[in-house]
Amino acid sequence: MPELPEVETVRRTLEQLVTGKTIREVEVRLPRLIRRPDDAALFASLLEGSTIRGVGRRGKYLRILLDGWTLVSHLRMEGRYGLYRTGDPEEKHTHVIFRFTDGTEMRYRDVRQFGTMHLFERDRDLEEPPLNQLGLEPLDPAFTLQAFRGLVARRPTRIKPLLLDQRHIAGLGNIYVDEALHRAGIHPERSAASLRAAELARLHEAIVAVLSEAVEAGGSSVKSYMNGQGEAGLFQLRLMAYGRDGEPCLRCGTTIVKTVVGGRGTHFCPVCQKPKRRGTRVGRSRTGKGESGISPA
Ligand code: ZN
Repeated sequence: MPELPEVETVRRTLEQLVTGKTIREVEVRLPRLIRRPDDAALFASLLEGSTIRGVGRRGKYLRILLDGWTLVSHLRMEGRYGLYRTGDPEEKHTHVIFRFTDGTEMRYRDVRQFGTMHLFERDRDLEEPPLNQLGLEPLDPAFTLQAFRGLVARRPTRIKPLLLDQRHIAGLGNIYVDEALHRAGIHPERSAASLRAAELARLHEAIVAVLSEAVEAGGSSVKSYMNGQGEAGLFQLRLMAYGRDGEPCLRCGTTIVKTVVGGRGTHFCPVCQKPKRRGTRVGRSRTGKGESGISPA
């Protein structure tokens, strides 16, 4: 499932490919992908004649900005956009086609058919579901350490499910949560309330760094996307934890283990990411200057 960096890469690429194009006709072959309005024929007719002015993103959602409309699109597991010339051979699982006046077309393919599209009057989307349910954008300046602390502090929830909850932070998924927790040296099953000030600071920094690096890595694939198959490649970031169970931790050499946390496959290093430490009390380290309580490991 694409997470914030992959969706951001798709956003940048799509923006370059389709901005300025005017929709001549929309063909919806799988009406249940269209969630708003609940009439796919109406969805198609509303978009006809509209010009794409840009592509935005909120969490893992794309926002295709048109004259008068915003199309909110979630790719879920396998959704993909590509730009083609009319008449190009069609690939399987093409469910929605946006035909432009210039003889090109944007095709939406989705093998698993879990993707969704919602159409709103321009910019109204931010005030209504699903986008108004989303929490902070982790790459926004508003995602400060203080804001993060406010989301996390005193919650009894385990830290990994909390980070995955889009109502708190929008855009993190299984891969980048595992990576951020590994980078910060925090066990995924620690309760959020048990994290000390220094650990929260490390985790905040790790979330921003991991996502930024992945966005940067994804950005480098934009060129090949445009020349190639019309699809964004996955990011090229070197993963430290996710998917590496059975392999040595790149920091300490201990074997990375896989477990299940909140129903999600979870990868971590049992040495770098120790379970709850005995005697740890919330708030203790806050008053300490200099000695922040970070163990040297
Ligand atoms: Zn390790």
